[in-house]
Amino acid sequence: MVRAYNFSSGPAMLPEGVLEKVQSELLSWQGSGMSVMELSHRGKDFTGIARNAEATLRRILDIPDEYHVLFLQGGATSQFSMVPANLLRDQGADYIDTGIWSRKAIAEARRYGRVRLAGTGERCGFSCIPEPGSLEFDPDAAYVHYTPNETISGVEFSYVPDTSRVPLVADMSSTLLSRPLDVSRFGLIYAGAQKNIGPAGLTLVLIHEDLVGEPVAGTPTMFDYRVHVKNASMFNTPPTFAWYVAGEVFSWIEAEGGLEEMGVRNRRKAEKLYAHLDNSDFYKTAVEPGSRSWMNITFALADETCNSAFLSGSEAAGLKNLKGHRSVGGMRASLYNAMPEAGVDVLIEYMREFERTHG
Ligand code: PMP
Repeated sequence: MVRAYNFSSGPAMLPEGVLEKVQSELLSWQGSGMSVMELSHRGKDFTGIARNAEATLRRILDIPDEYHVLFLQGGATSQFSMVPANLLRDQGADYIDTGIWSRKAIAEARRYGRVRLAGTGERCGFSCIPEPGSLEFDPDAAYVHYTPNETISGVEFSYVPDTSRVPLVADMSSTLLSRPLDVSRFGLIYAGAQKNIGPAGLTLVLIHEDLVGEPVAGTPTMFDYRVHVKNASMFNTPPTFAWYVAGEVFSWIEAEGGLEEMGVRNRRKAEKLYAHLDNSDFYKTAVEPGSRSWMNITFALADETCNSAFLSGSEAAGLKNLKGHRSVGGMRASLYNAMPEAGVDVLIEYMREFERTHG
């Protein structure tokens, strides 16, 4: 059996060691005679798995005690609504527009009330992150929302916006757990799991206890953070298997050296690929140097008529899902935690050879 290097933006690669452990426990989890998929979410076996996963996540991210950790469903997309339903209130909120994902969050927030644009990547056609000095925050906003890493275009904040006392809300779907993070800078962090966290179907929310309050009238029960906090994310049946696998991913990160080590590896992988792009006339990236994502590296071939040959050749070489998002075209290599550096080396070798034969 040969494992492919899967450069998908998500669902993405999981660490091989995690998949092997899950496989070894698939039919009978720790002698229970049952798969985790068959365990009651209210039984002591699964509640133990759930508690352990949270404890490990708290250790690796060093999450302060004043934050609740929620294991929800509905993807980051549901958070686009859940955040304003719970937090927007009469003051309105500030949003930073850096690309497709932040605009989707903005569109949902507008259904709940006033949204101001505190900054935008328009200056460079959204191939850069706005400079810190260009951001203008309303000191009375209920919160500031931003997308630290835009998965589709591959732009990433190299800084955490300073919003003074206004709570900062971040869609960290494609960057959470890729490096160390000071959680105390944020009021709320959310992320769909299918990149650095675990299987699709699970959504992580870290929320400061002060932000858990009454949502706007008419909010569905499932969209009320208070309900999930009170029920420890077990108000209804949670995505048990995804939660368990995420716990195994957290343990893998810890055993590999934690987020410090993830950051070192991720920076090295990204810098290697960007260096290759910068040193070639055949490949180019539109993203400005100070805004380059470590997680999603977008690039184009100088001669776009070679795109399909590039993609069919890469698929045949075991380098999967390099096609860029349909809205931007070109190529995208997503290099999340589970992508080994060897995968980047093989990709660069493939690119070099492709350039030699098609350049
Ligand atoms: N935000 C970002 C930054 C994303 O990358 C994605 C998914 N690729 C989403 C939101 C939507 O996530 P989901 O599919 O989990 O709803």
